[in-house]
Amino acid sequence: MLTLTPDAVLLGQSAGDWREALDHAGSALVGAGLCDTAYARALFDREAQSSTWLGNGIAIPHGTPESREAVQATGIRVLQFPDGVAWHDGNRVTLLVVIAAQSDEHLDILRALTHVLDRPGVAEQLASADSAEAVIALLSRPPVTARLDEHTVAAGVPAQSRQGLVAMAAGRLLDAGCVGPAFMAEIMAAAPVALGQKLWLVQGQQDVQQPALGVATPAHALDDTAAVFCLAHPGGADAETTRAWQALLDRVLELLETGQGAQLATLDQARLLGRLAGEKSDAETARVRVRNAHGLHARPAKQLVQMAREQSVPVRVRLESGNGEAVAASSLTRVLSLGARRGQMLVFSAEGEGAREALDAMAAAVRDGLGEAVTPLNDTSEARPSRNHITPVAPEPAPEADRPLMAVPASPGMSIAPVFVMRLPTFDYAEHGDDAVRENERLDQAIHEADEQLAALIRTAGGDEVAEILSMHEEMLEDPELREAAREAIGEGMSAEAGWWRAIDTSARAQETLADRVLAERAADLRDVGRRVLGVLCGVRMPDPPDHPYILVAEDLGPSDVARLDTRRVKGILTARGGATSHSAILARALGIPAVVGAGPGVMALGNDIEMILDGVRGRVVAEPGSERRARTELSIREHDQRVREAYETRFESATTLDGHHVEVGANLGNTAHAEDAVSHGAEGIGLLRTEFIFMAHPQAPDHDTQVVEYRRAFEALGPERPLVARTLDVGGDKPLDYWPVPQEDNPFLGLRGIRLALTRPDVLETQLRALMVAAEGRPLRIMFPMVKDVEEFLAARAIFERIVAELYPDTHQAPNVQLGVMIEVPSCALLAPSLAEHVDFFSIGTNDLTQYTLAIDRGHSRLSAQADGLHPAVLQLIRMTVEAAHAHGCWVGVCGELASDAQAVPVLVGLGVDELSVSARQVPMVKSWVRRLTLDDARRQAELALTRATSAAVRDALEAL
Ligand code: PEP
Ligand code: MG
Repeated sequence: MLTLTPDAVLLGQSAGDWREALDHAGSALVGAGLCDTAYARALFDREAQSSTWLGNGIAIPHGTPESREAVQATGIRVLQFPDGVAWHDGNRVTLLVVIAAQSDEHLDILRALTHVLDRPGVAEQLASADSAEAVIALLSRPPVTARLDEHTVAAGVPAQSRQGLVAMAAGRLLDAGCVGPAFMAEIMAAAPVALGQKLWLVQGQQDVQQPALGVATPAHALDDTAAVFCLAHPGGADAETTRAWQALLDRVLELLETGQGAQLATLDQARLLGRLAGEKSDAETARVRVRNAHGLHARPAKQLVQMAREQSVPVRVRLESGNGEAVAASSLTRVLSLGARRGQMLVFSAEGEGAREALDAMAAAVRDGLGEAVTPLNDTSEARPSRNHITPVAPEPAPEADRPLMAVPASPGMSIAPVFVMRLPTFDYAEHGDDAVRENERLDQAIHEADEQLAALIRTAGGDEVAEILSMHEEMLEDPELREAAREAIGEGMSAEAGWWRAIDTSARAQETLADRVLAERAADLRDVGRRVLGVLCGVRMPDPPDHPYILVAEDLGPSDVARLDTRRVKGILTARGGATSHSAILARALGIPAVVGAGPGVMALGNDIEMILDGVRGRVVAEPGSERRARTELSIREHDQRVREAYETRFESATTLDGHHVEVGANLGNTAHAEDAVSHGAEGIGLLRTEFIFMAHPQAPDHDTQVVEYRRAFEALGPERPLVARTLDVGGDKPLDYWPVPQEDNPFLGLRGIRLALTRPDVLETQLRALMVAAEGRPLRIMFPMVKDVEEFLAARAIFERIVAELYPDTHQAPNVQLGVMIEVPSCALLAPSLAEHVDFFSIGTNDLTQYTLAIDRGHSRLSAQADGLHPAVLQLIRMTVEAAHAHGCWVGVCGELASDAQAVPVLVGLGVDELSVSARQVPMVKSWVRRLTLDDARRQAELALTRATSAAVRDALEAL
């Protein structure tokens, strides 16, 4: 925040007209060494675009974005014109606040000024002030902001009583840093006041740092309580502070006036906030992030206001976080007073006919930058609000006895053991510390101790991947920005614990908004590191697990929790949250512990020592299994262990069914360095090389020679006969490449990704195709294009391929031993397979995406992905159509999605006529052995049976009953 010093205030200026005044202003900036004369000239250019007059006698001249380079240092000068100057737009100016801005710091100034604009009489006081200090005092008093946002509102709290809600509402204010412990004590002793309509209010004045309103609504209907409001307002405060908290109270009163009180208990957090911001129950809303580099400063704000005025209905706008107040989008001063910065979420609302259109127009205008060129935000949460904001959910009942519960398979294997439910300890600590030096010392010491713990864990960790992740934690601990953020918080009066957690939580939240799911899941690592330090600071130990074998059940597991596990005792891992790509899942696989994740909150209600079957292959658990199921499972575990051993011993034998039908089994790879390992596991080729991982591993797009080296490594490991199926670059959408920015999209999975993106940059595709063919040197190369939707896209990609072939093989125009195919990942491609089969050599079915697009379930969705089951009959029908079309044209078909290594799916895929299965290297021996135990007839029968069922559960049940 810029601070005004007396030398920045120039009193008693005079000018004949606005040009002369602007000349004075520019010279003041140049004279102070803040900019050169080019910027001073640009003040006029900016004024020519639109007036910078704000209101109440104040104008805020500043340069154009192009002139920013002429700014030497961010700063302002305030020029007082006691006699006033006629401005070019007809207004009268008595104060010029001229800004040399390099960054968005000028927003703070604007914000402070809009505050001034609201105060009656202040313009006159500014014009007649006789000291710089008086001007500064009038201008720079920071506006008092009240808090009412997602951090202070809790919807659906599993409380049994009104007092429970009171505690939650007040607790929210404590967690948000608005109040201290004395406030909590005051509130818990106070009697809530009935407001009517089942609403209750409780207020406190002690230990209040910021006026704020906490709100809590119950998950289950309470007879007389729909919501509890907890108001924090400092006693004896000035008029401005009083206005701030009274405005919060007004929101509650408005709700009462409109008779909406009793409905509040039915709303989720976002709607509850909307209602408190004055949105009617039938209001339409649109959320959009500010993309402008310098936020909603005067020019884009003006555009927004103009746009709002053009709409057929009144539009209101608020910031999703802050004081939650919605303002008229047609008022410039009100919009400016939001102080919206780049990345902040705006929520527009409107009612009545034409509301939707108006909101769409507003949102589109903001997305387009409101007249400024904008760069995309690396975030998809506008489209998917549920992804990053977990609204407290009501506790769910524990899974029923002897009933399978489906979730996400995260690490293969099966086990039976009693459960140990790990409930995270609570860390009790004071929010504030008296002595910042002492608190910083405590934090440094705790970080040091946590670092030593990590070093000890790394020494004893089993496996490279474990050690690698723990070293990443060490690096996080040493991150200077994290420490700096914690120091800053401690400097503001927080305790070591509270300051450290604020730094961790802020950074984790930022990480969670990343569009790349793998990166977003690193938020769990940050919190894990954070808890380790908190544990040291609070002297809290994790609960002790039992000393007999057990299945660990947890809300979610941090990677270091997994690394700490005693693999002799932990027979399985089950988590309520998390996805298959989380680090804990990766570690479980590395440690060979069967794991099922994302099973929902109900599993936390399991009692300790309840027996459970955990099936990490199918992603399923059964609590308290009946004796029959238990006996069946024990037998299959024994058989499974035996089969794993046998499969490994026979891994180099071909995957040929008992009646002589050969199915090729290849390996999926993201790193060509692992090709040798795949061959040593019996892979007959590489069925899918995800080349984007090679691109992601480089800070810039790897050039032709670099790519040749990468691909050659795979060909050399494979030898002259085994084929390499390389998928061309599959980025975009949810897999961004830093050096290839893609415009912000509402639905990245449905956006510019795969071949659609590659066709926008034929040069990149050309280089890749050339490098693949150069590296192959006549060895079997199969090239396939990802995310193709129809033959047109394939032909466009093939034309590029043919150009390169003609260039590399000018005599023959034929590439030796190269085949061209498409991935079947989009349902349209399967439906239209006959039209594609005429042109391709092969198809490879990407069942991960094909399932996602067929069932309309985000494959990484924390709650739904368990239902994204490739054994769904709709997906199987598409596979059947693809195989039939391919075989009619003499093409072969592979499956390279996860379904190819699913024990129940392998016979079905073979029965449907799939010629090749490509799976992770470690699963190659097992998949080959499954094929060897089949007959083609039997496989066909299983496929027919599966196709007759209506759901994936019915398919699995029918196959299991065979
Ligand atoms: C698929 O979609 O099934 C596939 C193999 O591709 P990816 O998982 O890399 O998207
Ligand atoms: Mg895919």
